[in-house]
Amino acid sequence: MRPGPAPRPPAVAGDALRERLRRLPKTELHLHALGALRPATTVELARRAGSPVLAAAERAAAEGYAFDDLPHFVEFFIGLFGLVTTPADFERVAWEVAEDLAALGVRYAEVRWTPTSHTARGATVDGMWAGLEAARAQVERRLPLTLRWVVDFPRSLPLAVGEAACGIAVATRDRGTVAFDVAGDERAVGAEPRFAALFRRARAAGLGCLAHAGEAAGPESVAAALDLWGVDRIGHGTRAIEDAALVARLARGTVPLEVCPTSNEALGVVPSVAAHPVVELLRRGVPVVVSSDDPTLFGTDVVREHERLHLEAGVPLDTLGRLAAASFLQASLPAAERHERFADVAREAVAWSEAACA
Ligand SMILES: [Zn+2]
Repeated sequence: MRPGPAPRPPAVAGDALRERLRRLPKTELHLHALGALRPATTVELARRAGSPVLAAAERAAAEGYAFDDLPHFVEFFIGLFGLVTTPADFERVAWEVAEDLAALGVRYAEVRWTPTSHTARGATVDGMWAGLEAARAQVERRLPLTLRWVVDFPRSLPLAVGEAACGIAVATRDRGTVAFDVAGDERAVGAEPRFAALFRRARAAGLGCLAHAGEAAGPESVAAALDLWGVDRIGHGTRAIEDAALVARLARGTVPLEVCPTSNEALGVVPSVAAHPVVELLRRGVPVVVSSDDPTLFGTDVVREHERLHLEAGVPLDTLGRLAAASFLQASLPAAERHERFADVAREAVAWSEAACA
C-alpha cells in the first residue's frame, strides 16, 4: 500500500502555541476541585492530617502522579477528601484552583465538589460553603473569572448519599451552586432509574443537571443519562462513538460532551489522544466542550488539553476557538445572565478563531 501524504506540521507549536491557546478566552466546565489541588498544597495538607496519601503526594510534587489503573486512581482520590475539612481549607483550595484557571485564560469555571465525602470526614456544609463563598468573593474582586460550583455525588454509595448531595445542591443554589452531577464508577452503577427523582428535584430548583457517562461504561450509559435523568451536559461521553444512532441523536440535540482527552488516555478509556473519537464526533456534528477533569492528577491543564487536541488529534485551531466560544453558551446559568456576562468574551473567542484561520 502506498503511504498517504505526510501530515502537515502545525504552523505553531511549543511555547508560542501554548501562549496562543492561553490567550483564547475559554471555559472549564468539567473540573474536580480535588483533582486540581496544587501538589505543594496536597503535601502540606497531607502532612497536617497524617494522611497515607502523603508519600504519593511528595513523589508527585517532584515527578508528577502515576496511577496503575482506575481502582488505584479512585483509592488515591478518596484519600484526598480527608485533607480538606475546615472553612479555611476550602477557601484556600478554591482560591488556588481559581487563580490557576485564570492564569490559563479561563473566564468561566464550574468547579465540582463532592460535599458528602467531606462531611463524612469531619467537614460541615456551612463551614464548607463559608470557605467556598469567601474564595468566590475574592475571585470576583481580583480575577477576570466567573466562578460557580457543581455538587456531585458518587453513584456507588447508597441512594441516601445522593439524596443528601441533592439537598446540599438545592440549599446552596444562592451560594454559587449552579448544577448537580452524578460521578463515580458507572460500571458498578450505570443507568439507575432511582436517580431520576434527584435530577427532577435539582431541575425544579433551577439547577443544571449533569452526569458522568460513557467513560467506563458504553453508549447505553449516555442514552440512559439523557432518557432517565434528562441531563444538560454529559461528562466525557467518549464511548458514545460506539453507537451511530446515539451520535446522530447527540448531533441533532444541544447536550454537549465534556471531552477530557488526557483523562481518557490516563485511565485507558482511549489508547491515546491521537486515537480519541473527538475528531469523528466533531465531524458528525456533536457539540463538544474541552475540559481537563483532574488536571493535577493527570499532569495536564485546560490549555494543554487544547494543545494536545491540535497537535496529536489534528483538531484545527479555528475549530478549538469556535468550541471555546460556544462553550460559554453551555454554562449552567440562566440564559439572560449568560448573555450579559459572556456575549463580549464569546465574541473575543470568535475573533481568536478567525485570526487562527488567517
Ligand atoms: Zn470527572
